[in-house]
Amino acid sequence: MSDHTNSSQTASAESTVETPLVWDHLSDVRTRLHQADGLLFGTDFDGTLSPIEENPDSPEPTETNLRSLRALRDHPQVSPAVISGRGLADLRERVGIEGVDYVGNHGLELGIDGQRETHPDAEAAEPVIEDICQTLGDRLAGIDGTVVENKGVTATIHYRMVDREEVKTVQNHVKEVVSELGKDEVEIHDGKESLELRPAADWDKGTAISQLLAHTEVWLPLYIGDDTTDEAAFEEIRPDGITVHVGDNHKTAADYRVRTPAEAEVFIRWVVTDGLALVESTDDTR
Ligand SMILES: [Mg+2]
Repeated sequence: MSDHTNSSQTASAESTVETPLVWDHLSDVRTRLHQADGLLFGTDFDGTLSPIEENPDSPEPTETNLRSLRALRDHPQVSPAVISGRGLADLRERVGIEGVDYVGNHGLELGIDGQRETHPDAEAAEPVIEDICQTLGDRLAGIDGTVVENKGVTATIHYRMVDREEVKTVQNHVKEVVSELGKDEVEIHDGKESLELRPAADWDKGTAISQLLAHTEVWLPLYIGDDTTDEAAFEEIRPDGITVHVGDNHKTAADYRVRTPAEAEVFIRWVVTDGLALVESTDDTR
């Protein structure tokens, strides 16, 4: 397991150089796919498979991305996985494709080969998260647009729809309630227009992707995502894996980026139409 603290320091030191667009490096991606015996295709959900929506309840994967995921699943030397901050059950329902591995709650809930596994510390923190969500629901009731989403072992406080001048108030309430009720078991992490409440457990998207890799042969990992929590996955698999950040955040550990979810869709489609043929063309020694 890599040391995430060290690797994130390395990443921020390197981030003065702008992360190049993957389109300018497709030959490198092609070479690595050609050398690979198989592909672990990992992807984030919100902002990657689905466009970011105002309302956290509405996002669905685009039709093209669903088609791509099915094609990846049907390839014998590819194992696709969707890794998200959403709860495992919610994620599985939204994507709805059998034979894909799902990881929920930023790596705390794993659904690999149909088996569910939850971090024990995360399971223990569930009643504490419940308590915090109820109290926050009351305290934030007067602030329009706040959404308190209890995801079982974690929670997300969304403020995308909140007036800009009220965002600070929302954040202060969250800090207050977590310090009152969190019992040092709950941490606050910055999300996209949201705060994530997570148990102090050491599984993240990076450990998730290494657990997924342990289920494959020695396959090449590829990971694409737009969140700060996706950085742990990038750090885990680079420089050997193919890492693609979605967005204009130049402080990413990923080697490449695409600008928008629409470009992510085009890249994922490219992996299916061009990339899979390269994985297929590898000599089969069996
Ligand atoms: Mg995302």
